[in-house]
Amino acid sequence: MVLPLLSRHKIPATPENYTTWFHYVLGDIQELNNKIDTHIKASQPFSMEFCETLYRKYIAPADLEHIEAARDQLITSIIETNGTLGETGESAERFGQMLDNLNTSCTQARSVTDILGVVKQALNETQDMKNSMDQMRAQFDARTEELNKLRDELNQVRHQASLDPLTSLANRATFFDTLEEIISTNSGNPISATLVMLDIDHFKKVNDTYGHLVGDKVIRFVADVLRKSTKGQDTAARYGGEEFGLILPETPLQGGLRLAENIRMTICSTNLVKSNGESLGKITISGGVAEYQAGESVQNFVDRADKALYESKSAGRNRITRTA
Ligand code: GH3
Ligand code: MG
Ligand code: MG
Repeated sequence: MVLPLLSRHKIPATPENYTTWFHYVLGDIQELNNKIDTHIKASQPFSMEFCETLYRKYIAPADLEHIEAARDQLITSIIETNGTLGETGESAERFGQMLDNLNTSCTQARSVTDILGVVKQALNETQDMKNSMDQMRAQFDARTEELNKLRDELNQVRHQASLDPLTSLANRATFFDTLEEIISTNSGNPISATLVMLDIDHFKKVNDTYGHLVGDKVIRFVADVLRKSTKGQDTAARYGGEEFGLILPETPLQGGLRLAENIRMTICSTNLVKSNGESLGKITISGGVAEYQAGESVQNFVDRADKALYESKSAGRNRITRTA
């Protein structure tokens, strides 16, 4: 059933798409089915980006969640076992103490040599038990520490994977995921969000004149301006090579325009200097701003902001344009 569906909607049969549609046919992820059905009803094409978003949103997190649930269960059970072991260890110690006392008493009571023999043997056994318990506890402590380290590393890796390596801003995937999240979690309620798309002007010239490495530094400079200009629930993302997106939840169009204008002014008034002191002069940036319209798709929202950006370019660059 999966393959005819893929071909009907002109979707390449990659392992990811196959998995997504396999679950669609199974019907075990209700939200996935709703999303696909709405898309089909609206006669929207299944673009590569849309398919990727479906996979990332509905399939991949489930995998990660399973791993994390298993890991957390493991840590809980080890910590619990460790607690039990601790208690066992303590009672063994008390038991040892008791036998110790008994040993002293028996040593003084010379007439009961037979009993002393038995008690001594018991004492030896208890000591052995205590030793092996101590060893086991040490092993469990080490294991718990390892697992905690593993958890921290996994969280770190997950965080890194959401970022762009050059600028440490959110990457393209996070940009789309964040937009999807904002739009889908508020379904039914009015959403106020503004999107700013920015693109460095004549960036090819920077690369051609000063080389790619300097170009990279200029990209990082712009990223830093964006980072400093956004706060709270805003997301600043590197959307493409020298293209950036700002997602501003609960922000009206005017707020987005003001922010974009401030960013543009900061950038065009900064004199860029190479590490050897040589001046690069100034760069400029163009932008497009759109406010979310009830019911529109992520792609439509992005396209409208992009169109406004394109208008800034054709009107002469170094300016911000809002959607009509
Ligand atoms: P426009 O004003 O129309 O935007 O002109 P532009 O020269 O900026 O044109 P365009 O956006 O098409 O060119 C972007 C250039 O950015 C092309 C590519 O070589 C360069 N670029 C893309 N990614 C990177 C990167 O990571 N580092 C560097 N140094 N350059 C990049
Ligand atoms: Mg450009
Ligand atoms: Mg560009």
